[in-house]
Amino acid sequence: MGSAKKKWSFILSKTRIAILGAGPSGLAQLRAFEALRKKSNSSDFPEIVCYEKQNDIGGMWNYTWRTGLDRNGEPVHGSMYRYLWSNGPKECLEFADYSFDQHFGQAIPSYPPREVLKDYIMGRLDKRALFTYMRFECPVRWVTFDQDTQRFSVTVMNHKTGEQETEEFDYVVVATGHFSTPNMPYYKGLEQFPGRVLHAHDFRDALEFEGQNILLVGGSYSAEDIGSQCYKYGAKSVTISHRGGSFGYNWPEAVNEKPGLEHIEGNVVHFSDGSSQAFDAIVMCTGYIFHFPFLPDELRLETHNCLYPDNLYKGVFFQSNPKLIYLGMQDQWFTFNMFDAQAWYVRDVIMGKIQLPNESERRKDIDSWLQNHEKLNTDAQSIDFQANYIDDLTSATDYPSFPVHQQAELFKKWLEDKKLDIMGFRNKSYASTITGTVAAQLPRPWLEIKDDSLEGFMSLKFKKAS
Ligand SMILES: Cc1cc2nc3c(=O)[nH]c(=O)nc-3n(C[C@H](O)[C@H](O)[C@H](O)COP(=O)(O)OP(=O)(O)OC[C@H]3O[C@@H](n4cnc5c(N)ncnc54)[C@H](O)[C@@H]3O)c2cc1C
Repeated sequence: MGSAKKKWSFILSKTRIAILGAGPSGLAQLRAFEALRKKSNSSDFPEIVCYEKQNDIGGMWNYTWRTGLDRNGEPVHGSMYRYLWSNGPKECLEFADYSFDQHFGQAIPSYPPREVLKDYIMGRLDKRALFTYMRFECPVRWVTFDQDTQRFSVTVMNHKTGEQETEEFDYVVVATGHFSTPNMPYYKGLEQFPGRVLHAHDFRDALEFEGQNILLVGGSYSAEDIGSQCYKYGAKSVTISHRGGSFGYNWPEAVNEKPGLEHIEGNVVHFSDGSSQAFDAIVMCTGYIFHFPFLPDELRLETHNCLYPDNLYKGVFFQSNPKLIYLGMQDQWFTFNMFDAQAWYVRDVIMGKIQLPNESERRKDIDSWLQNHEKLNTDAQSIDFQANYIDDLTSATDYPSFPVHQQAELFKKWLEDKKLDIMGFRNKSYASTITGTVAAQLPRPWLEIKDDSLEGFMSLKFKKAS
């Protein structure tokens, strides 16, 4: 009798959804549901709670000066630094339902700084409506799934009340990001190095390294961008050590590349080609690990940074329990518009508009994507792969269709522009694939513009692109 009562109360109650994290991915999910609520005003609209560790929305785009622990003793999420400008053209991350023109009311350059992009991401949100779902300063501590009730229990530490809270949900959407927990290598002699050793996660201000000889370890975006920032803000020399060969950029004289790091003696670093050099500081740009300390083994996604993590149907539904959803877990060419595509699809599955196939059909679909993934050899192929993935998602929902393949071509152009001029590619302008507007041009080269604030940027006298 008791269990029948429990069953009925479950059927009659509204569907409950927990969204973990309010960065761009979690916000896309909230926005997808809000768009539906506004359209349908249906009485069976689900109950949504979004748990966020920080005290604001925005995720990685909230700059914090803090490193290590936040004011509640939780690991600091932010890895962004001062003076960070978009590393890809804004035309490749434009929302299909909210253009840059709509937000700024004028053409702005293709590579805006962090505050400007954050302003844009936030601009389309109805904050008043959205904040009704939010529980700030509530890091998720533990999630379990009960096979009998088919519900999740989500336990969070509510730092505002000082108490742990547990609530039950039908669906859990994990949108906690994957660029926050450093992958920190060890090299012999590191413990004796007299200067500062830090991971890119803790890098905040290039001015700290003004006049210094700085070594960056790693062969990806962090190394190239932090290297460019340090050069721009007056480092004496920047050396990038990586095993993968050359970036192929025409670096300025003060920036050098070295092969893999071998070991360290005092302040002298030895490289695999037998060369050595003294440094003042070392920044490990060695990537991030996927870290879900709040998930038990049977619910935890195990992957590395790649374009198609295994065990995620449509890149989002956890294969062994598709009521558990992961957003934004892919390596990212596309970002905000991909999160939208995922969020709209997830919403339609939860609302019963799209039916999920059975486990073996889902497995077949995952495998076919994985097979294509294995064949990828070039950046251009990877970009197209992710564009196809987005296409696959948006074609099934009412998310406004957008020319994702044109955006893929822009990404390829961007890669070429970087190869031509790594310190100057941010001076280029592209046309929006959503509105056709050609981006404005910076009045001076990016290298000379040191103020990255929203006000500073918007008060620049942009030029019309020629
Ligand atoms: C240095 C750097 C530069 C970048 N530059 C660009 C760029 O120029 N352009 C671009 O498009 N992308 C860039 N990115 C990629 C960036 O990660 C994405 O744009 C975007 O922020 C990913 O959104 P997300 O919501 O998936 O994750 P995040 O933005 O990381 O948000 C995750 C959220 O989850 C919260 N959270 C984490 N753990 C918990 C928990 N246990 N409980 C509750 N909440 C939790 C966090 O506080 C955070 O708010 C950059 C990333 C980095 C690290």
